[in-house]
Amino acid sequence: MTTLTFDSLNPATGVVVGSHPKQGSDTVHEAVGRAEEAARWWAGLGHAERKRRLLDYKAVIVRHLRELAELVHQETGKPVADATLELVLAITHLDWAARNAQKVLGRRRVSGGMIGANLAASLEYLPLGVVGVIGPWNYPVFTPMGSIAYALAAGNAVVFKPSELTPGVGVRLAQLFAESVPEQPVFQTVTGFGETGAFLASDPRVRKIAFTGSTATAKRVMAACAENLTPLVAECGGKDAFIVDADADLEAAADACLWGAMANAGQTCTGVERVYVVDAVYEPFMELLSRRASSIKAGEHYGPITMPGQLDIIKRHIDDATKSGRAITGGPDSVRAPFVDPVIVADVPEDSPAVREETFGPTITVRRTRDAQEALDLANASSYGLAGTIFTRNTRRAMELARAMRTGMTAINSVISFAGVPSLPFGGTGDSGFGRIHGADGLREFTRPKAISRQRFAVPGMNLTSFARGADELERLIRLVTFLHGRRKR
Ligand code: NDP
Repeated sequence: MTTLTFDSLNPATGVVVGSHPKQGSDTVHEAVGRAEEAARWWAGLGHAERKRRLLDYKAVIVRHLRELAELVHQETGKPVADATLELVLAITHLDWAARNAQKVLGRRRVSGGMIGANLAASLEYLPLGVVGVIGPWNYPVFTPMGSIAYALAAGNAVVFKPSELTPGVGVRLAQLFAESVPEQPVFQTVTGFGETGAFLASDPRVRKIAFTGSTATAKRVMAACAENLTPLVAECGGKDAFIVDADADLEAAADACLWGAMANAGQTCTGVERVYVVDAVYEPFMELLSRRASSIKAGEHYGPITMPGQLDIIKRHIDDATKSGRAITGGPDSVRAPFVDPVIVADVPEDSPAVREETFGPTITVRRTRDAQEALDLANASSYGLAGTIFTRNTRRAMELARAMRTGMTAINSVISFAGVPSLPFGGTGDSGFGRIHGADGLREFTRPKAISRQRFAVPGMNLTSFARGADELERLIRLVTFLHGRRKR
């Protein structure tokens, strides 16, 4: 029998980085079968031992930091320094998940309430079993690790399908895990194209799918999950807005805006794509932004566009934006495949593709607004709702705007800073998906709450859940509920 393979390429050079099997349904289902047994064993280890193993895995990753960063660099084209930063962030999350799982998920007593005063009630969050993780290529360590680390810490086994563009790093992450957990295949990687991911999503023994990628693919994965009522965490794209208010530190805002938009060649789900600047500071901000942008070059400050097909979308958005708007930095000539230099276009109509659709490239549209409220209204007028940024020196106003922003995350006077805080949940709303990775919510996402009520003693004359219940017992209950809940509070 011949096993079909596919190559992962360095997108900057076209050189083959590695060759990997295109795994079919049998192989995927076998992996899930092994994972089921591994999940039972891993869950049986308990929180303390899992924490020890996961912290050991963290140390293994740290010892292979340079090797992994080089592999991420090869497969995505991003600079080694950026790949290193990504790995460090992933390590921070792995550490947090390992250290906090017991506290967040472990068994605790909860009050039985007045009517249940004779009950001992307890709550704990138990593992689901096998979790399938379908990952993207833009942050091939940080993003899937946001699901993998939290799912493992919660006591699940993981079968990971990395993007076909970054299979090597996915394979290596699972290989390294086996150094800390050699007994059972608790974390496995399967490689292949989209259909390999589809086999994983449609296996009824997978108890949850954590997907990161496009909204369109999320819908397909959700349809596959629906067959078995498999729950899904969907981390999809975004069209994140960056708001500059009149009292903002403009130097800091321009610096953050540029990095948030152009770093990783704009291939960041929470990257800056739309910029709204209040009228009072529009001119000085644009001056600072365009001056800074003129010194940033693709291939030097950030890498190539990782997915070749994405270049067409970026080009279409730039062509459209520069026809209807005013090019401030770059333009259609900025696309020199596989690289794209920074592009900033002002006054692009809000209903154009460059403002409405995810570009996933180093491009931004900028619009002048009357005030921060108008900026917020425009920011919220998007089908996406992943994250956003607000620059203002007024903390109270910043908090008001942040809370009113219809996204899962908002950064104030910084960009994407929430992603580096492990205790904060990460995820969006609307077309950006649902469910959360990271933080306590991210741990609970990969569990089922287990509620247990134990009767400690019978309450005489209050046997309510019995066919032997008498009218006097019901009368006593009515008197009790009237006493507890019958008074109107003013
Ligand atoms: P996709 O959503 O197509 O792919 C994401 C992951 O899903 C990959 O591992 C992919 O495998 C897998 N996949 C594809 N089809 C299926 C399927 N039917 N069932 C199960 N799994 C499947 O994203 P792309 O990589 O094609 O990127 C397209 C766009 O998505 C980008 O232009 C960008 O806008 C957005 N995106 C957003 C990301 C984010 O961070 N939110 C990350 C990546 C992309 P394979 O790669 O092998 O096809």
